[in-house]
Amino acid sequence: MQAKKQLQKHQRNTSNNSIYRIPVVVHIIHDGEDEGKGLNLSDETIKTLIKNVNDDFRRKSGTRGHNTHPSGVDTQIEFHLAQISPEGLPTTGIRRIDYNKLLDSLGREGIEGYRTAGYWNPEQYFNIWFSRFSRGFLGRAEFPETDLPGIPQPTEKIEEDGIFINSTYFMEGEEGPYGLGRTLTHEIGHFLGLLHVWGIKSNCENDDYCDDTPLVSGPHGSCSGSTPLACNGEPAMIENYMDYSDDACMNIFTKDQMVRMRTVLEHSPRRKTLTTSPGLIRSDIGANTVKTYPNPALETLNVEFGLNVLGLSHEWILYNLQGQIIQRFTFVAKHQMVFNLPLVASKVLILKIQGPALNTTQKIMIGN
Ligand SMILES: [Zn+2]
Repeated sequence: MQAKKQLQKHQRNTSNNSIYRIPVVVHIIHDGEDEGKGLNLSDETIKTLIKNVNDDFRRKSGTRGHNTHPSGVDTQIEFHLAQISPEGLPTTGIRRIDYNKLLDSLGREGIEGYRTAGYWNPEQYFNIWFSRFSRGFLGRAEFPETDLPGIPQPTEKIEEDGIFINSTYFMEGEEGPYGLGRTLTHEIGHFLGLLHVWGIKSNCENDDYCDDTPLVSGPHGSCSGSTPLACNGEPAMIENYMDYSDDACMNIFTKDQMVRMRTVLEHSPRRKTLTTSPGLIRSDIGANTVKTYPNPALETLNVEFGLNVLGLSHEWILYNLQGQIIQRFTFVAKHQMVFNLPLVASKVLILKIQGPALNTTQKIMIGN
């Protein structure tokens, strides 16, 4: 009952229906194969998997993620490969790591491999590692820090905060029951605070704290044959992403599950910061433009550069109204930068920023 109240309290807090966009970095840990071969999954494979995840989370019509179930919802949560690296430079959001070259020669595969393969700041990026695991292991997720009921103690190792996926199910020629990538959808559900539909233990006494997923005594596997029954005698929701059913029959997140995930994205450390991360271009600046703020400025000026000019050398020239140069230097453009302004008596300065694909002149007001 306490748990129910808590969820209702959060439900009121999640009244906004904005779309959350989460930047993803994928770390592919491979065995030295050429790109697209073996464990070294191709960019296309990764992009297809991310697209499928979005079809599922957005319940997109015309895709496998669509459903017409009365409890089924569009969670309004999306995942996008990062556009900007931690260094502020353009990125594909996909890293490739040959585990033969990792310094640590022991336990390079599986979870041990992740520690040496590295991660991006989990405050700003959702880390997904792909590596070889033994068959039968599909994936693993770290839970968020949250006071939502039922969540196990999350990891204290922030370098493992993310999800781990067994690459072998996505290699060329692989056509098993998990090839559609619903393992990602399921593990992301955990990452955002969802439990399995049967709760923590396999009996009818545990709950997943979502009233609209019928309580079941344990996981379901194959989805052929007659629909199994839930603890209360109604049909079980084997289509729920938080069951263990085959990929082909999964297509439901419910409203209560959506509320839990959005609650985590609005309150939990290393989750809520993802929704405003600089890993995705969020401002309205064009690819070849620049945005400066605040105006008026005091001692510093924030400058955001569009995608096409990142990594390029630029010249910064600051003039006073008499046309005298009072500050001049060159720099390499990164997505978000902060520049110190010189101490001057002028209330108005003219800023020129020039580069190979950018030439802008702006009036900068100084003062309160
Ligand atoms: Zn699970």
